[in-house]
Formats: sequence, C-alpha cells, structure tokens
Amino acid sequence: MQQIVKPSRLRIPRKAARPIVLSRTHGVFFLMLLWLALSSTARGEKSASSSSDTSGPFSAIVRDLCAHLQIGDHVDVRIDETNSKMVSSEPLAGSPHRYLISFDRAFLESLDDDEIAAAIAHELGHIWIFSHHPYLQTEELANEIAMRVVDRETIKKVYAKLWAHTGVEGNLEDLLGPDPQRKEPKVSSNID
Ligand SMILES: [Zn+2]
Repeated sequence: MQQIVKPSRLRIPRKAARPIVLSRTHGVFFLMLLWLALSSTARGEKSASSSSDTSGPFSAIVRDLCAHLQIGDHVDVRIDETNSKMVSSEPLAGSPHRYLISFDRAFLESLDDDEIAAAIAHELGHIWIFSHHPYLQTEELANEIAMRVVDRETIKKVYAKLWAHTGVEGNLEDLLGPDPQRKEPKVSSNID
C-alpha cells in the first residue's frame, strides 16, 4: 500500500528549504508573534478553554511550509489548553480544503522555534496525505513528507519531548524510517 506514495522522489533540496524554515530573522519574527499570542491568551482574553485566534502567529511559517510541500489548503493553528495527542491535525467538517492543527499549550511551550516548525511540518505531512491519499495515513509517511522541509534530528527532538509529555515512547525507526545516513558506510575511514 505505502509504495503508492514515495515522497522521497520529490524531496526538495535541503539548501532550498532550510533557510526559510530556520533563518534567524524568521525565527525572531516567529517568536515575537508566538509571544504575543501566548501572552494574550495568558491574560485571559479568551474565556473558552481554547483560543481560536492563534492562526496569525503561525501563519507565516505555515504558509512557507505549505508552499514547499505544495499544499494549497487553508491551515489554521490553534493552541488548546489540553490535547492528549499534544499536537494533532484534522479536516474541518463542512469546509473542504480547510484543516486545523491543534497544539497542547504545555507541549507547545516546551518546544523551540525549530521544533515548532518540525511539529507543524509533521502535521502538514498528515494534511498532505489527507488531501492526496487519505487511506494511507501513517506516522512514517507524515514524517517522510515533513523531512522534505525539516531535518530528521529536529523531528527526533520533538518526539523526545512528545514522549516526555505523554509518558509513552515509540520506536524512531518505525516512525522515521531507516536513517539514510546509516545506510552508506563512510569511505574515508582510512584517513585518521
Ligand atoms: Zn502524526
């Protein structure tokens, strides 16, 4: 089943993707917006248990990641007081081509900006699958798509924090697939 989609063939060269995701300017801007969002919700401006106006702080990075992943759908991000999955995504009922990514507040606050981008990229991987091959949802495929735009090591860090929050560990090989860097033995080992 999974061989129908092999996103690695479409992988965007890292040099093209990384500066947009990880650039310092972007990170500072993003953190500023994140701070504004978190502080506004902390002041209790929302009486509900979740805030629905937090798509703004994430819209720039979501837009960049969607462009690189060729996702044309509308994606909002929301911070919830609790999300048992810590971060999740779902299509909005009755709104074709609209999706919602939900973060657990405490989990989100434990992530740095690169890790937030990686978590969003993972959820966009799910959204890409939703819109292309909805019956092929797997964590591995979502990560394979995410790794077109964020690096494997950052996704590993997100999983470490995810598992610290949930108390349930998974298998990185199953979730991320075999590490391509381990496949090829180093040829320069005779030079010391
Ligand atoms: Zn997932």
